Amino acid sequence: MADKLELIPVTEWGFFTLPRPMVIAGPCSAESERQIMETAEGLASFGIHVFRAGIWKPRTHPGCFEGVGAKGLPWLQRVQREFKMKICTEVASAKHVRECLDHGLDMVWIGARTTGNPFLMQEIADALSGTDIPVLVKNPMSPDLDLWIGALERMNRAGVRKLGVIHRGFSTWQDIPYRNDPGWRVAIELRALYPELPFFADPSHMGGDRKYLLELSQRAMDLGLEGLMIESHCQPEVALSDAKQQLRPDDLRILLGEQIVVRDADSQAADYRENINHLRADIDVIDENLLNLLKERMDISRRIGQYKKDHNIAILQLTRWDSLLDEVLQKGGRSGLGEEFLRALFNDIHEESVRIQNEILWTKE
Ligand code: PEP
Ligand code: MN
Repeated sequence: MADKLELIPVTEWGFFTLPRPMVIAGPCSAESERQIMETAEGLASFGIHVFRAGIWKPRTHPGCFEGVGAKGLPWLQRVQREFKMKICTEVASAKHVRECLDHGLDMVWIGARTTGNPFLMQEIADALSGTDIPVLVKNPMSPDLDLWIGALERMNRAGVRKLGVIHRGFSTWQDIPYRNDPGWRVAIELRALYPELPFFADPSHMGGDRKYLLELSQRAMDLGLEGLMIESHCQPEVALSDAKQQLRPDDLRILLGEQIVVRDADSQAADYRENINHLRADIDVIDENLLNLLKERMDISRRIGQYKKDHNIAILQLTRWDSLLDEVLQKGGRSGLGEEFLRALFNDIHEESVRIQNEILWTKE
């Protein structure tokens, strides 16, 4: 049973303001003081006021650029002083947390490789206990919602109430155009469980290429997420990490100001509310009917199961299933229902039906 999270609303953290998206931007890694200042200046020029930069970088191969380490923290402090921006970085150990606190960072985030490790999460949570800096927890590498929730619970139990999440997609073996599988379904599930939890998307790590930033950011906005964390570098072509996915501050200004369309998350206008309530009521009735029909269908499966058992017949007759699915796809297709959707839906129904018949087969009489 998941904990209820005790949260301080994001609008009370003191640095994110509406309207959406709340934006965190900055380079993948801090590389030099000059690169940090030039990038921050570009971002500040169009109103970005939360700056990110990785100081300690989790890299797949040893020998890759692993971040400048604590010596980069004073560069971030300069950004904080000179551009009045809030500064944040990734922490992966208690030592990182202490260094950040010593250097007055305004916020930290937990990287995807760390969220999935309960030992590290506990260590970081303990180190943050008694402080009040906000913490954003990225999803773990695998689409394991419980692991993500567990990480949030550890933070919250340690007293972190300025808590939010960053969805950056999941590692996958599948051949997809993105660097990580967006797996929006997991985000939607988390959102449904904790609607008050501030939700950011990280289209940079999700897409792995700046050419996907618009479509992924747009999707995040359409899903009603509060914010975006986007990697931006004054000279992406020479970036020491994630060069392909970073974009210049000027291009980020265009993306945010001219390309992404942000629709209202909801509206209280009377005619909108009346119409939408009407449509939702219709949907509720249909859903109820669907549930009743599903129950009836499963009752019949139960009777079929009993009948097969009485006649000593195996549960699965694949030819019957193939012809049923064929027919469903044809009829559904004619009604304009998508094939993928029908396949997934009827496979689930069939699976449940087989499960019920199996249960009957193995019930002692
Ligand atoms: C990052 O934000 O630079 C980073 C390493 O991200 P992730 O943990 O999502 O891979
Ligand atoms: Mn990166």
